[in-house]
Amino acid sequence: MTAAAHPTLDALADRLGDRLVLPADPQWDAARSPWNLAIEQHPAAVATPGDVDELRALLDAARADRIQVAVQPSGHGASGTLDGTLLVRMSAFDGIDVDVAARTARIGAGVRMGRVLEALAGTGLVAMSGSSSVVNATAFTLGGGHSWFARSFGFGSSSLRAVELLTADGRHRWVGDADDPELMWALRGAGGAFGVVTAIEVDLHQAPVLTGGRIVFEGTDAAAVFRATVAAGRTAPDTLTLHAGAVRIPDVPQAPAELRGRTIVAVEAVELGESAAARAALDTIRAAGTVVLDTIRRIDVPALTTIAEEPTDPSPGFGWSVLADLDEEQVTRLVETWESPDAQAVMGLAFRVLGGALAAPPARHGIAGAVRETHIVSGHAMGVPALAEASRRAFEALDAALGVAASDRTFCTFLAPGVGYSGAYAESDVARAARVKATVDPEGRFRGNRDFT
Ligand SMILES: Cc1cc2nc3c(=O)[nH]c(=O)nc-3n(C[C@H](O)[C@H](O)[C@H](O)COP(=O)(O)OP(=O)(O)OC[C@H]3O[C@@H](n4cnc5c(N)ncnc54)[C@H](O)[C@@H]3O)c2cc1C
Repeated sequence: MTAAAHPTLDALADRLGDRLVLPADPQWDAARSPWNLAIEQHPAAVATPGDVDELRALLDAARADRIQVAVQPSGHGASGTLDGTLLVRMSAFDGIDVDVAARTARIGAGVRMGRVLEALAGTGLVAMSGSSSVVNATAFTLGGGHSWFARSFGFGSSSLRAVELLTADGRHRWVGDADDPELMWALRGAGGAFGVVTAIEVDLHQAPVLTGGRIVFEGTDAAAVFRATVAAGRTAPDTLTLHAGAVRIPDVPQAPAELRGRTIVAVEAVELGESAAARAALDTIRAAGTVVLDTIRRIDVPALTTIAEEPTDPSPGFGWSVLADLDEEQVTRLVETWESPDAQAVMGLAFRVLGGALAAPPARHGIAGAVRETHIVSGHAMGVPALAEASRRAFEALDAALGVAASDRTFCTFLAPGVGYSGAYAESDVARAARVKATVDPEGRFRGNRDFT
């Protein structure tokens, strides 16, 4: 579809200047690209509205030109479904307002998680944040969001108090449970297509003392360290979160010379507090291999996003993940499969220990509800076309290695491109969310990165 097919949108170009990018513009390719460079998307136009008036004008233009509106702050979760849409970036909505006494924060829809945590430095409070600094706080929360603190407080969406929302009828308002409980239920985990969220209000949680860091082991220790982490996770306090991972650093010039061709095995840990029980759990993991680096220490809130040392620049990636109940035998099989010649395309293998509050009904009702499985397992590969088929086969092999331990679901924020919400939630819940969508957006004006299938 060309820009000429959208006369109303084109007519906004003078008013919006470089806040509306059309296919003929020189910055088009940069504007349309998502963070995950493995995903191609071909929207009709890309807008970065400066305020709600501009957002409303864009929505009106999309309606007049009969195209859908898709909000994508950055595109870690890009799924390739946004062709022909008006793609909206939210970077101008960049306010953060922290109320320390009330333990709440209002966060603009353009704000990344790293900035939220910086705003909380020294307050003794944390927001529900995941492992990456560059993930958008609103996108994370609307997708459920698995946080370092999930074992204490459940999904990130369970801490969502209210949203400021522009709906298809042109209304812009704050919505909470007292206004529309059914909409809030759907927004807490499947929230990408009910309107444009311009800000969220979230609970902050008390964290006077935070401990965190990573323990790095020799590359040959993966199976032993994974087994020890599974065992430690069974009895660890809910205040302690454990992630275990192994990464094969490719032998390519882009990788640091000293790491090329090596395997890094690491356990990342965050504790809300500093307890003897957590220290004992970490000591059993340390004893499972040869420790080459140990950064576990007291940390301030902003340091949460540095623990996992995840990439912050856009990069291409293929991913796979599944909720599972791991035991020592399964985790051993998983590592053996990952180390086999058949799975060499998969660069990283990881799992996170779940349980605690995540296994209980959420504090605030939402489609992202209790998770029965004890772990989430994931793999990632470089998202280059030459590796697509080998990665797909390797992910299948990893899934098969888990056998009956694997479920058929994952977290919404970890869903692979092209998979609908039923890859994360029960079909009856997806149908319920679809009914909410039909009520609030009867023309289907908004398009999320997931379908209600
Ligand atoms: C390195 C890395 C680390 C990660 N760590 C974690 C983690 O620890 N825990 C976890 O749960 N996930 C994690 N993720 C996954 C990430 O949370 C998802 O990809 C999620 O989609 C957010 O990505 P994003 O901020 O780029 O949002 P986008 O991909 O830009 O947006 C995702 C979707 O959210 C909806 N949306 C976003 N903003 C709005 C809005 N203002 N109004 C309406 N709808 C909106 C849209 O449907 C949009 O397509 C990680 C991803 C990466 C790449």
